[in-house]
Amino acid sequence: MKNFSLYFKILVIVSATSYIDAFTRNEFPDDFLFGAATSAYQWEGAVDEDGRTPSVWDTYSHSYSRDNGDIACDGYHKYKEDVKLMVEMGLQSFRFSISWSRLLPNGRGPINPKGLLFYKKLIKELQNHGIEPHVTLYHYDLPQSLEDEYGGWLNRKIIEDFTAFADVCFREFGEDVKLWTTVNEATIFAIASYGEGIAPPGHCSPNIFINCSTGNSSTEPYIAGHNMLLAHASVSNLYKLKYKGKQRGSVGFSIFAFGLSPNTNSTDDEIATQRAKAFLLDWMLKPLVFGDYPDVMKRTLGSRLPVFSEEESEQVKGSSDFIGIIHYITFYVTSQPAPSIFPNMKEGFFTDMGVYLLPIGNFSFSEWEAIPWGLEGVLEYLKQSYNNPPIYILENGKPMKHDSMLQDTPRVEYIQAYIGAVLNAIKNGSDTRGYFVWSMIDLYELMAGYTTSFGMYYVNFSDPGRKRSPKLSASWYTGFLNGTIDVASQDYIQLQRNLSGYSSL
Ligand code: BGC
Repeated sequence: MKNFSLYFKILVIVSATSYIDAFTRNEFPDDFLFGAATSAYQWEGAVDEDGRTPSVWDTYSHSYSRDNGDIACDGYHKYKEDVKLMVEMGLQSFRFSISWSRLLPNGRGPINPKGLLFYKKLIKELQNHGIEPHVTLYHYDLPQSLEDEYGGWLNRKIIEDFTAFADVCFREFGEDVKLWTTVNEATIFAIASYGEGIAPPGHCSPNIFINCSTGNSSTEPYIAGHNMLLAHASVSNLYKLKYKGKQRGSVGFSIFAFGLSPNTNSTDDEIATQRAKAFLLDWMLKPLVFGDYPDVMKRTLGSRLPVFSEEESEQVKGSSDFIGIIHYITFYVTSQPAPSIFPNMKEGFFTDMGVYLLPIGNFSFSEWEAIPWGLEGVLEYLKQSYNNPPIYILENGKPMKHDSMLQDTPRVEYIQAYIGAVLNAIKNGSDTRGYFVWSMIDLYELMAGYTTSFGMYYVNFSDPGRKRSPKLSASWYTGFLNGTIDVASQDYIQLQRNLSGYSSL
């Protein structure tokens, strides 16, 4: 069996490395959107300027880690410069998020005119240059006031406040914004923020790995996740009733989608993979498409999994015009106890899942390899199990040490491999409509602060002017978008040579 498993893995790795066939941008459907992404706290900075109040992410980064997003890339002041970079790149769409506490400093009630003006100006700037905004309403940054008042996403009061916030956004920006994502990567948000304690607001049960001041890893991820689905459905319903007729946009929900593949072809590993898919993907997709949680989760979690009333189930079902996929990594799944890549907590999501995720190739949370077939697997799974929904790949990218090189060849190889995977999936019938590189420029990173980054533009975070410089990936994406680069052709090699003159920092 050991030999077989080795053979199986070599096969998979060989097919991963010989994966990229030549393709061009022109092979994608005409209306396919290529973009790049950021989020408010990671890009804007200016955290206490012009009336913004703290979010849970401000609090989390100031209490738990060395770095924080106080200044970040200073996108709040440098947005015009960044839009110029996007224009030069030929970017079709820019994904960013709205800082709730910049727009509504009390979490609800009066609008902050300066916050409103900032987003209006940003959206106009994009629009004047023909770049389509893709707006995320929630990206880890709940107004701290709502966390303090009632515990944020753990309380059903969030549904009303999130809907009121969305109402302001649709009313004020909806003429110009046609693509809305309600919650960023809801699955991993619920797990990381309320189970593992590694994202704001940093809740978990007492454990030896992470010091959490509060939490219950065996219940909170499911409660928070439930409220996210209900809040999304309420926002989507509001859009349909009040705005869609006039504004003609789409409202989607996004999940973090791991690629998952059995470790061997044994029946046990196949069953383990189905279980991992149920917990990591179906947990939220099944309610969105069919109105209820997967049976295996209901059986395993019993009363720890909240229940949808009939009315709620009807509201959640069909509430997502598209599914946003955030995809970075793929794991092998096995039923055999193995050192987990997630800390082995006594209780929590991964203990409930009860199967093991094994890294493929060199993996750490700050460095991973391209496994493009993993994304293809996710897209095929959605096509087959969820009636082929419209999909946007809202994030995909590769972390590298921040102060490494402008010549980020591994990132280029990663991105082109995944764009190739998306093209394959489309050729196989997937209704994938867009692809966004994470990230447009180096950002304050969720897990790593300023030590690793994903940007196509380098940002000098020691420079008060936060100077931006293009990496090879920026030049490659530009060439790809403008149709002047064939993937896997001589053009790319030439581009590398051109860049080698200013490659090291
Ligand atoms: C999050 C981003 C984060 C990125 C890289 C995504 O899951 O949405 O905020 O920076 O991963 O870690």
